[in-house]
Amino acid sequence: MYTCGPTVYDYAHIGNYRAFLFEDLLKRWLEHRGFKVTHVMNLTDVDDKTIKGSQKQQIPLEKYTAHYTNAFFEDIKALNIKPADYYPKATGHIPEMIALVKTLIQKGYAYKAADNSIYYAIKKFKNYGKLSHIKIAELKTGARVKTDEYKKEEAQDFALWKAWTPEDGNVFWETELGKGRPGWHIECSAMSMKYLGETFDIHCGGVDNMFPHHENEIAQSEAATGKKFVNYWLHNEHLLVEGKKMAKKFGNFYTLRDLLGKGYDPIVIRFLLLSTHYRQQFNFTFEGLDATKGAIERLRNLMRRLQDADGKDSGGKVAELMLGVQAGFGEAMDDDLNISVALGALFDFAREVNALLDADAISRSEADEISALMRGFDGVLGVIGAVEMEEALPKEATELIKKREEARKARDWARADALRLRLREMGVVVEDTAQGVRWRLEKKG
Ligand SMILES: [Zn+2]
Repeated sequence: MYTCGPTVYDYAHIGNYRAFLFEDLLKRWLEHRGFKVTHVMNLTDVDDKTIKGSQKQQIPLEKYTAHYTNAFFEDIKALNIKPADYYPKATGHIPEMIALVKTLIQKGYAYKAADNSIYYAIKKFKNYGKLSHIKIAELKTGARVKTDEYKKEEAQDFALWKAWTPEDGNVFWETELGKGRPGWHIECSAMSMKYLGETFDIHCGGVDNMFPHHENEIAQSEAATGKKFVNYWLHNEHLLVEGKKMAKKFGNFYTLRDLLGKGYDPIVIRFLLLSTHYRQQFNFTFEGLDATKGAIERLRNLMRRLQDADGKDSGGKVAELMLGVQAGFGEAMDDDLNISVALGALFDFAREVNALLDADAISRSEADEISALMRGFDGVLGVIGAVEMEEALPKEATELIKKREEARKARDWARADALRLRLREMGVVVEDTAQGVRWRLEKKG
């Protein structure tokens, strides 16, 4: 599985993370189903954007991109995204790119133009436009584009190797192809095939990568090898923020860091961003974040209740519910990652289990089975476990809870209430349930 990684010229925004989270969900689901996944995510550390950014800040390219690369790794850790097996950097794979461009020249798919750059002749590749559904007749053949990004209507011969110009400053490689640097698209063809072979199963990215980036990757790779490049392409749709396209000019542009700075929990952001089907446009709202926080709490509260459950046996009811949710969740996820239906099944299950717990109708061993099943689902979702481990009650609070219990037993309600207030001030919420006293830490911010 190859997923187009970040261009490390800035902090990644939540639209980027929607893509990385959908890919994480896909990988976790495949692994849950017993597939062994080899995952490669590249780091674009030389392209038009990184060069421009480093020059603007007058920092050497390597140092500039290292900063954003580190930030990216911090972000994905916070979001509980499982690391890829390989994170190849474009600057570390120049020889592979050169070799690929040379093959394309030899096979007649590439040529050197008067500006000394090397271009891909799109009319030579008969399947050009197949992925993004553009017709070759509409293409301006013979016209050339040197920038990495351009619109569908501007489809034309694109740069594989860009001859050095003064704007590139000291970013260049002296190679057989001349002094210059690679185009963005050749980077992903060279790095994906190096780690995954000439044909591999899955290639993902945001829908805006479909053209020109992925279209050009196919053209480059298939022309060079004569083989099918990728078996399955998966593209996630755009993200809107509060109903609008996310843009700095609309004041609705957020990096992950912006949201963490506002006090939001990264796991809540994770759950919200992956809770809508990847092929649907997703509207990110702050209201949605608050609702998601509540949804995660419901799952975690259920896990806490299960830890203490010690009732009578459900008489087969638990086994039946478990089979139901396994089928419901599994069939939905197998159906092109239909996450909303899968989550619907999970929350229905949680509600029914809670009802059984209310009736004291779940035995200790049934509770353990349910917990294990929930852990299995969370291996895919990644939202329950990560934070639950952080929950630890301050020692002083443990004492106060004990004293409050004694006060309640002695029917000293005034003292019990006073102790509850003191706990509340410490951020500990105490609840009295049929199963005894429960507590949870109030989330700050
Ligand atoms: Zn790519």
